[in-house]
Amino acid sequence: MKAFAYVNATSEKDAVAALKFDGIALPLAGGQDLLARMKDYIDTPERVVNVKNALDRTAAPTSGGGWRIGASMKIVDLLEHADIGKMYPAIIAAATDIGTPQIRHQATVGGNLNQRPRCWYFRNEEFVCYKKGGSRCFAVNGENQYHAIFGNDGPSHIVHPSSLAVPFVAYGATFRVIGSKGEREVAAAEYFTMPTLQNVLKENVLDDDELLTHVMLPAPGNVKTGHYEVRYKASHDWPLAFTTVVLAMNGGIVQSGRVVLGAVAPVPWRSKPAEDALAGKPLNEATAAAAAEAAVSEAKPMSGNAYKVQIARTAVKRAILNAAGIKTV
Ligand SMILES: Cc1cc2nc3c(=O)[nH]c(=O)nc-3n(C[C@H](O)[C@H](O)[C@H](O)COP(=O)(O)OP(=O)(O)OC[C@H]3O[C@@H](n4cnc5c(N)ncnc54)[C@H](O)[C@@H]3O)c2cc1C
Ligand code: SF4
Repeated sequence: MKAFAYVNATSEKDAVAALKFDGIALPLAGGQDLLARMKDYIDTPERVVNVKNALDRTAAPTSGGGWRIGASMKIVDLLEHADIGKMYPAIIAAATDIGTPQIRHQATVGGNLNQRPRCWYFRNEEFVCYKKGGSRCFAVNGENQYHAIFGNDGPSHIVHPSSLAVPFVAYGATFRVIGSKGEREVAAAEYFTMPTLQNVLKENVLDDDELLTHVMLPAPGNVKTGHYEVRYKASHDWPLAFTTVVLAMNGGIVQSGRVVLGAVAPVPWRSKPAEDALAGKPLNEATAAAAAEAAVSEAKPMSGNAYKVQIARTAVKRAILNAAGIKTV
């Protein structure tokens, strides 16, 4: 690992000041992603700013009936939070399967949302692809079995690696961000960015001296929620495809809803066709199947990942059945 200076920030203000640096400074939370990247020479920051003691580690109710979650809250504390579990079950379902118990005890909400892609070319020092300032994507003609099946216009074809991002988008969360220019709030759905040649080095809207400090969840209202993940193995890996659905109900009929897919696109992928297929319908096996079909109607798999289309279809259908309280397996 390349030598670096270490700053232990104890307030939001100190953390932002330490990140505004003439050189490369990166925030450190639980270190589960950043330290691995540094050991593999994917990132070689000159300054590492520990933000764990600077950012909020707690969750608190808001005056509007929702919840506010601090970026330094550990994933294990999130998934054991009884009130959040009751109000936002899909968040707990997503948190429960992240990595391993050791990772969940160390990793934070802020670090999870801002972790970098798992594309194996990105994670190998030798491959200088678009995301590392190069001029090509090795996945296009290479090994792309875990890459995107939606949003494949390039230049990068990653899938976003955060399990928490998907339910946060589905529940309509807002992220609070601070930086040297002050603070701002960004809808979770707008926070994650599709790759373009101009912004391909990043996966979100943050400037270099900005930090995510809180996730604000609105009161869920009269909704039914479902979450379903398809994984190659039960632990120590990322899902192949997963879905959160949050459906506003009018009696037994879906009024409107959010259907958000994970591990299938460079951002949490909101499926308008699936949402349209559900609106005005009762929740049952036939509606779930129709919405799942609609969800994959726009899929454009790469050379090695067409198998993910069926997995995504299954994840959408089972998340909807899960919301309906219909047992799937
Ligand atoms: C075997 C394995 C399996 C895994 N499976 C899953 C899985 O299924 N689902 C999943 O979601 N993840 C999975 N992970 C990834 C793991 O959950 C993340 O690495 C972890 O959540 C990152 O959190 P952290 O606090 O350790 O972040 P760090 O490693 O400290 O930081 C991650 C990145 O975010 C930046 N950062 C940290 N905090 C902030 C902030 N407040 N504002 C802005 N930027 C910030 C850092 O600079 C860094 O670039 C897995 C990891 C491993 C090793
Ligand atoms: S998918 Fe993205 S991260 Fe992977 S090789 Fe292509 S440009 Fe790089």
